Amino acid sequence: MSAVPAELIAALRAAVGAAHVATGEAVALLDVGWNPHNLDAGIVVSPESTSEVAAVVRLCAQHGVSLVPQAGRTGLVGGSMSKPGQIVLSLLRLNQIEPMDPTERVALVGAGCTLQALQEAAAEHQLEPGIDLAARGSATLGGMVSTNAGGVMAFRNGVMRHRVLGLEAVLPDGTVFQDLTRVVKNSAGYDLKHLFIGAEGTLGVVTRVVVKLDPMPQATATALFGLPTVEATLDVIGMALQAKAGHLRAAEALWQRFMHLNAQALQWSQEGFALDQPLFLLLKLGGADEAALQGAFEDLFEATLARYPSSTGIIASSQRQETELWHLREDTDIVYRAFPAAPSYDVSVPLSRIPAYAAQVQAELAALDASLQPFIFGHLADGNLHIILNHTGPLPAQRAQEVEHILYRNLRAWGGSFSAEHGVGSKRIGAMNDTTDGVKLAAMAQVKRLLDPQALMNPGKVFLD
Ligand SMILES: Cc1cc2nc3c(=O)[nH]c(=O)nc-3n(C[C@H](O)[C@H](O)[C@H](O)COP(=O)(O)OP(=O)(O)OC[C@H]3O[C@@H](n4cnc5c(N)ncnc54)[C@H](O)[C@@H]3O)c2cc1C
Repeated sequence: MSAVPAELIAALRAAVGAAHVATGEAVALLDVGWNPHNLDAGIVVSPESTSEVAAVVRLCAQHGVSLVPQAGRTGLVGGSMSKPGQIVLSLLRLNQIEPMDPTERVALVGAGCTLQALQEAAAEHQLEPGIDLAARGSATLGGMVSTNAGGVMAFRNGVMRHRVLGLEAVLPDGTVFQDLTRVVKNSAGYDLKHLFIGAEGTLGVVTRVVVKLDPMPQATATALFGLPTVEATLDVIGMALQAKAGHLRAAEALWQRFMHLNAQALQWSQEGFALDQPLFLLLKLGGADEAALQGAFEDLFEATLARYPSSTGIIASSQRQETELWHLREDTDIVYRAFPAAPSYDVSVPLSRIPAYAAQVQAELAALDASLQPFIFGHLADGNLHIILNHTGPLPAQRAQEVEHILYRNLRAWGGSFSAEHGVGSKRIGAMNDTTDGVKLAAMAQVKRLLDPQALMNPGKVFLD
């Protein structure tokens, strides 16, 4: 692809200020994030307002140069990869949080605001955004909208789509779509904000987001159970949903191989708690009183033992212990350090199918290649499993197809998904084309052509170039 015209670079500098158009050495100094090709474009433009974003988009449209929106660069499916001849549009300077009205329980934030910054601002009013994920320190609300992020509380509060009340986006021609609704109920015509949620930057640039907030519990408690089977783990989640005190906030499953790797890397162990169970379940309760929550966990463990006598359990007794337990689940980069660029999958499976699915996948992968051993973990309460293979770099093409066949072939018929919460990006376009209803694919392509006739918004993502 040809280089970005010097005339465009000069116009971009005039539009956002020369200091905010990084090239060459200045780009090399930036954090490339979770994909090594994020900054391959070599030009990063960082506007600070919706009107500056619109000016950048208009200039790129005039010159026929494509744009790759980026923010936290924590995306896991190559959605923010860029290449020479493109412009990276960083939203990180749009990080404003408007003053919150605790009565409304709503936040209006810039797309570049990180989840953690919003969580901290909301906490000052005893509120929370109701969505949480391990990349909270870098992932932004605009990025989370664009990937329709899920995370640990989705089984209870829904995914990003259910937390967004309104949004503003710059369309590919530089006009501004504005629907900053701040109420839950709004049935006034087509709810077009949903087009931008999960669009991964292919239909426009999200600039501001209205997020629904919930009351924050005054106390939390965490427990880790070791369990004999997937069925038992789902059963315990069911019991935890009926906890005698508080409410379930997270239920994360760690299959043994994942637990072993992370516990070893973090040098974590607990006297009397063996790591020989097939599955581990990390649970968090929220409520008014920590002692009551711990009591609820004691009752839950007793009930679990009555049904599954080989179960084991720990209830965190301090904030430090709670944090250590969560590191076991959240430090997923340990797998990628052991197997750089390992093939990874992010499936959603209806809960009733999970036990058979997990058994089928493990058996068929072993039959395909006994050296392929999956690390499985995930948001079991909503049926979202993450599966990472113990393989450095991508699999050879034929083997990759065989693995996808094992993982994906039944999901559509069951009502599941090949992409639970990470998106399609550039990595899962083949899986989408193979497993999605043809009428849906055709309708998506029509919407894309309608809004972005020049195909300048994040080309090569969601759709092939
Ligand atoms: C350790 C770790 C844990 C994670 N855990 C979870 C999890 O539990 N649940 C989950 O859902 N995800 C998870 N993720 C994935 C990731 O955090 C999410 O995809 C997140 O939503 C991406 O936000 P970002 O700001 O980093 O976006 P980027 O990575 O910068 O971009 C992601 C995509 O969104 C587009 N984009 C970004 N900003 C905008 C914008 N303002 N307008 C239009 N398009 C835009 C980009 O073009 C790209 O396609 C995890 C990632 C890591 C590294």
